[in-house]
Amino acid sequence: MYKADSHVHSNFSGDSMEKLESIIERALELGMNEITITDHLDLDFPGEVNIFTLDLNNYIETLKKLKNEYRKKINLKIGIELGLQPHLKEEYREIFSCEDIDFIIGSSHCVAGMDIADKKFFEKYAKDEAHRIYFEEVLKNIDIFPEISIYGHLDFINRYGRSVYDDYKKINFEMHKEVIDKILKKLIEKKIGIEINTSALRYGLRDFHPCRKILKRYRELGGEIITIGSDAHRALDIMRDFDKAKDVLRELGFEKYCVFTKRKLEYKDL
Ligand SMILES: [Zn+2]
Ligand SMILES: [Zn+2]
Repeated sequence: MYKADSHVHSNFSGDSMEKLESIIERALELGMNEITITDHLDLDFPGEVNIFTLDLNNYIETLKKLKNEYRKKINLKIGIELGLQPHLKEEYREIFSCEDIDFIIGSSHCVAGMDIADKKFFEKYAKDEAHRIYFEEVLKNIDIFPEISIYGHLDFINRYGRSVYDDYKKINFEMHKEVIDKILKKLIEKKIGIEINTSALRYGLRDFHPCRKILKRYRELGGEIITIGSDAHRALDIMRDFDKAKDVLRELGFEKYCVFTKRKLEYKDL
């Protein structure tokens, strides 16, 4: 069985301390065929200091060197996780034309100019309203950034809000069904994939990002471009809960998952 993790962070990300060498060693221990490093670049992240900047040249050169060093043992791929906000179109142009990048995750970490992990977002907007604003911005981003390979952790907003709402429940899927359908249809039409991101389980959500309901709907609508990612920020979490993720995908009728090389997708058996 082909083993790949398509969403992994190293200490090139402002929120990870993990060395690339430790990540690769762990991947070799796990007998993996490939691993894609997807460090953060979130331009214009709100707040005093932006920790989510990326020294792109150094990042790419370092990965190329390691890729070559380990080429006989594992396929190390160069990815990036871009924090999308509608006004950043021009700023990310350089990334979209960079030929060394294998895989681009577009993610919504900030919505309406606010960090959704910050309590203030849920203090400003009532829960369902916050969810609506989130999904509507995702929908907008798909048109603005059609170059992305996949949309990252599609219902990321589900992780937050618990700090403000004691009775915080998951997204009201029925309430937001229309916008979620629009998102999924647009992604399918533009051949942009999604991921099943297992990090939600580590955050105590008992589901993936996105949740099973959204994954099911994506499949029903004919979606088949899906990558599997741990969103590990430490080597220990690489490929965590992948067996569960693959079981869920099979249950929902998926037969394959995807990996990317130079932005081209390839299917692997689940
Ligand atoms: Zn992310
Ligand atoms: Zn990530």
